Amino acid sequence: MRPLQPVRGTQDLLPEAARRHRRVIDAARAAAELYGFVEIATPIFEFTEVFARPIGEHTDIVAKEMYTFADRSGEEVTLRPENTAGVVRAVISSGLVQSAPLKLFYSGPMFRYERPQKGRFRQFHQIGVELIGVAQPQADIEVIALGSRILNALGVGERVHLELNTLGDPVSRAAYREALVSYFSAHVAELSEDSRRRLERNPLRIFDSKEETDQRVARDAPAFADYLNPESREFFDRVRVGLDRLSVNYRLNPRLVRGLDYYTHTAFEFVTTDLGAQGTVMGGGRYDGLVEMMGGPALPGVGWAAGIERLAMLIEEPLPPPSPVALVPIGEACEAHALKLAEDLRGRGFTIDLGYSGNLARRLRRANRINAFAAILLGDDELARGAVTLRNLGSGEQSEVPLAELPARLQSLADGQIVF
Ligand code: ATP
Ligand code: MG
Repeated sequence: MRPLQPVRGTQDLLPEAARRHRRVIDAARAAAELYGFVEIATPIFEFTEVFARPIGEHTDIVAKEMYTFADRSGEEVTLRPENTAGVVRAVISSGLVQSAPLKLFYSGPMFRYERPQKGRFRQFHQIGVELIGVAQPQADIEVIALGSRILNALGVGERVHLELNTLGDPVSRAAYREALVSYFSAHVAELSEDSRRRLERNPLRIFDSKEETDQRVARDAPAFADYLNPESREFFDRVRVGLDRLSVNYRLNPRLVRGLDYYTHTAFEFVTTDLGAQGTVMGGGRYDGLVEMMGGPALPGVGWAAGIERLAMLIEEPLPPPSPVALVPIGEACEAHALKLAEDLRGRGFTIDLGYSGNLARRLRRANRINAFAAILLGDDELARGAVTLRNLGSGEQSEVPLAELPARLQSLADGQIVF
């Protein structure tokens, strides 16, 4: 039989990687809670229409990256490529929109049929936040400040920088669109096939192209700043003043457009140069038309998503789990007692690793391998006296301890106090 393989672009989170992921998620959740965000989880698959229209037919995601299939009853479903559309669908279908403003945090797997490479997978994981129902720039500012706080909490603040842009309101955007269409039409021969298609449907998308030829043409395209109406300009100014006041540094990047169609006003990315081409660790922006487009009330929104794999690569190795106590029964008769004693001690909060088989030497080797700080040796004779042998695996010292005193002795050993 051919050895079983994981599907291309997927990867196992082995314990060390899983620990890194958990560190990212825990730090993000804790920071999000400081801003009053609460957690939400939506299904990892939805009817395809939940993603297709909101994300936009001409985005890379919808055009070529979605995992779409018919289920056994012929329903067309898609593994979620991102979670904003799913969260918006959830708050609409549950009626939660009534309680806006909503501050929601999520984490979980996303799926895109991409060419796998460093920092780019077909199943990857994101953390993200959505602040739904606030039209004021305070929401943009807080959402960005939260992103920045998480990156700092993870110790990667110095390795990323914030890029900021505005996509204006729909009126500005329409004016800019016209300018872009006429500019890119004059250079149509130099554009990639994808971008020629984008030219008709959504010329802004051309800025997001990863093709060298498109990027060359895009460099000299008209700037959005020249087409912003006063309202859009004022909104952007207020976001910038707020970020300045919070000392959240940013660079303006007039070429920054986000991958999805539904963004308005603020667009931003936290980028690092430490991960090669896959340098964007967090990206987001304002999406004022999305909730209404998806059949809900006209509620504005702003949020971001961050790639956990990319963050996990940047952080320091997290602390290992707590060092356990090895419980080593010596002889058949003690096995049952050992099981019971292990449960009692776990009930008191100790991490207990029960040696399942092998002689004393073998079980002690395992105790060392799992980095146990102590071993409890359980033999018939001691047990008859209501005692065990407690060995300090750091010093090698050991002594007989009455069972009644065991928890206290273990605790002082765990606290690093000398008990022998
Ligand atoms: P990119 O330009 O790298 O393709 P994107 O614009 O498609 O990113 P978003 O849809 O904004 O990405 O997703 C937010 C974040 O999720 C990205 O900044 C990145 O950190 C992460 N991400 C996106 N796609 C992948 C992937 N295929 N594998 C791993 N992480 C990803
Ligand atoms: Mg992408």
